[in-house]
Amino acid sequence: MRLLSKNKEDMPIKKDVWDIIEKWDRIIIHRHVRPDPDAIGSQCGLKELIKATYPEKEVYATGANVDDLAYLDEMDEVSEDLYEQALVIVTDTANIKRIDGDYYKLAKQWIKIDHHPLDDSYGEVEWVNTEVSSCSEMIADLWLSFPEKIKMTAKAARLLYAGIVGDTNRFLYDATSPYTMQIAAELMTYPFSHTEVNNQMNVIKPHTSKLMGHALDKFELSDDGVGHIMLTQDILKSLGMDDKDTHAIVPLLGKIEGVCVWAVFVQQSDGAYRCRLRSKGPVINTVAQNHGGGGHPLASGAHAKDEKELEQILLELKQQVENYSKES
Ligand code: AMP
Repeated sequence: MRLLSKNKEDMPIKKDVWDIIEKWDRIIIHRHVRPDPDAIGSQCGLKELIKATYPEKEVYATGANVDDLAYLDEMDEVSEDLYEQALVIVTDTANIKRIDGDYYKLAKQWIKIDHHPLDDSYGEVEWVNTEVSSCSEMIADLWLSFPEKIKMTAKAARLLYAGIVGDTNRFLYDATSPYTMQIAAELMTYPFSHTEVNNQMNVIKPHTSKLMGHALDKFELSDDGVGHIMLTQDILKSLGMDDKDTHAIVPLLGKIEGVCVWAVFVQQSDGAYRCRLRSKGPVINTVAQNHGGGGHPLASGAHAKDEKELEQILLELKQQVENYSKES
């Protein structure tokens, strides 16, 4: 099969990344707070590739463990003193404030590997490609760029496959390219059960199904296609949930007919709101950036201090939809 890499221009930076990895005996890999399957998949997938290729190296994946993603991998305990003689790699994390863990600052050299728009520069080497579906796709592409050097394993293939499936919402989103599909196909040739991974990713907890019912019932949709739902602390408490359980409703609401752009506002314990913004066309990361956030053009996150700011975000989203309709 002819591989359709669209990342040929990244070859020099990929070579730099692997050359640096080769030089260090100890490598500590971080990813963003509140990880999703792509954060864990890219972080732990890269760890597995390095370990399989260089069994003598010490390689760690660090950050908080998340029960719901424990089926992917567990984090390592990494003490502060290990950092001074370590290379730090951060995957899937656009800005420094979203890196999970603090000790990364103690390392002498950092590498950033990410697919988000370049919000915040960090690391001596930054490999950022916003064209790809996921950070896991970048790690798999690194392997396919140097297949004679880098060793793939079933465990790494499972992690990277899960990351790609997670960030593309099962190959649904626009950033899914023919090359994404080829990479997924290559990974599937390794002996892991993609059905098991897909089933794990499809599971919802009973209380999440209640939240889904509430969200579908209370979702408000304006005539111009901007939808939103507000999840207050009272609602979350009454359903026995917290913020981290709310991710499952985000893609669900986008399925409703007529929705063009949508927002899920989740009240935090301090009364402020975490805002998850999604779009089927209009660029919305500019709105996120206006409110202390960022992310991808069609999937971003922001913060709002109060309901007045939520109204402002909705106004800005409506403006984006209007501009988009004029352009197209
Ligand atoms: P989420 O709604 O948390 O799944 O986030 C969607 C996308 O927006 C992810 O790719 C995040 O990296 C990005 N994102 C979410 N919150 C923030 C934030 N506060 N700052 C920058 N990017 C964010």
